Amino acid sequence: RVLQLGGGLHHAREERASGFCVYNDLSVAIDALREQGLRVAYVDVDVHHGDGVQFLHYEDPEVLALSLHETGRALFPGTGSVDEVGKGLGKGFSLNVPLAPFTGPNSYLDAFERVVPHALQHFQPDVIVAQCGADAHFSDPLADLLLTTQAYEQIFRRLLALADDHADGRLLCTLGGGYRLDAVSRVWALLALLVQGHDWPEALPEDYRERWQAHLDDPLTPTLHDPDRSFEVDRQSSIETQNRRASEQALEQAASHWQHA
Ligand SMILES: [Zn+2]
Repeated sequence: RVLQLGGGLHHAREERASGFCVYNDLSVAIDALREQGLRVAYVDVDVHHGDGVQFLHYEDPEVLALSLHETGRALFPGTGSVDEVGKGLGKGFSLNVPLAPFTGPNSYLDAFERVVPHALQHFQPDVIVAQCGADAHFSDPLADLLLTTQAYEQIFRRLLALADDHADGRLLCTLGGGYRLDAVSRVWALLALLVQGHDWPEALPEDYRERWQAHLDDPLTPTLHDPDRSFEVDRQSSIETQNRRASEQALEQAASHWQHA
């Protein structure tokens, strides 16, 4: 297991910078793994579509690119529809699950479970590279998904378990987007603790809170996890139906190319 405390710059393209990303460190890492003959599954849980990584490896059948993100109809960079499945020999090796704005933890995890384990089971990667952006957190000011730290813990635990099941435990995690300091610090602390197999205390250390509160206007959450909360969302069942359909379509579109391979 490797955790890169930086990077995750998934929007950078070959010919241009994009979305706060100049160099695509993820793609460089994937190329380095490919040069060793390894099959790489890329899993992107940043709230934005992992367009840079997807299109840099779009024709490579040895790189499976999976991205769950807020739909491009509502959010930058606008790509990441279920129809983007790869090109040439790479057809069927890009899977995109565009999620409706205001998607909550249950619907997100449902979509994740419908697509990611199945795709990994089919692909049989040698190593998993995961972009662990924290901007799907409900407090993030740039996007509209409603994940909690508890949901992120489940996602990270699943990534670790899936790496154990499908890639002999080989997992490279990077950080990614995240624009609410109170959320990103706790989400990525959870990631670091889980990757290393450590437990955590419920309350954050007093000296840490004092030190960083001085720099922030909003109050820091005093615990590693969010306080228990539920979200009242209009059209909840319509959101869940859209997400179920998107995840089913993502898998069907890709799998139709697997059968012809
Ligand atoms: Zn992002």
